[in-house]
Amino acid sequence: MVRNHLSHLPDSKLRWFKQRIRSYLKFRKVLSTFQDEHFVDICSQKCFTSHTSACCGREGIITFFADVVVNVLLSTQEEIDVLLDTLDSDTGGLNCVYLNNTGCLWRVKPIVCEMFLCEHAKNLVLDGNNALKSQWEKFRRRERRYTWPSRVVLFDELEAYFIGAGCDSPLMYLHRSPGLLRLKARHGLGRKQSSKGRQV
Ligand code: SF4
Ligand code: SF4
Repeated sequence: MVRNHLSHLPDSKLRWFKQRIRSYLKFRKVLSTFQDEHFVDICSQKCFTSHTSACCGREGIITFFADVVVNVLLSTQEEIDVLLDTLDSDTGGLNCVYLNNTGCLWRVKPIVCEMFLCEHAKNLVLDGNNALKSQWEKFRRRERRYTWPSRVVLFDELEAYFIGAGCDSPLMYLHRSPGLLRLKARHGLGRKQSSKGRQV
């Protein structure tokens, strides 16, 4: 649905999307570097070599609609085809459907995946290292600037855009989750009419 919609947009609108997500991508880049520097060895040792990842268990994560939008914007057509083929050929199992031998199939994995650290990893890396702990807390606060709708946030805006374009998805939590809707209402971000007359 996202790919189809984006494929009909003029280049100027696609450039607008890419501009709009630029700061978020910068955040993702430094976050990914932090994960690589401090967690990749522990994660490889504990989970990937034994094929038992608590991070990438089936039904273990939440994916936001905006995660899909960002990933489609950044992916090649072939990469999106692989994701769709994977869903079509899913045969069950304990792992996330998008986990293959080389890791996650998403180009920009969902933010909940990137921010997840199990207790084992947190204890080993963050406990006793105040500088790293403080850096991790900063990342958590920065994540909320894009995803937590106590103010206007990117993830809410992206959902609203696609709702305005006539799309609907159960992943639109910022417009569907009762808790998040209450949060928005408390901060004066209640429902308003989109340009197409829908409530967004
Ligand atoms: S964060 Fe924990 S569960 Fe996830 S891959 Fe690393 S060690 Fe495994
Ligand atoms: S989407 Fe990727 S990172 Fe997230 S659980 Fe699935 S395989 Fe793991």
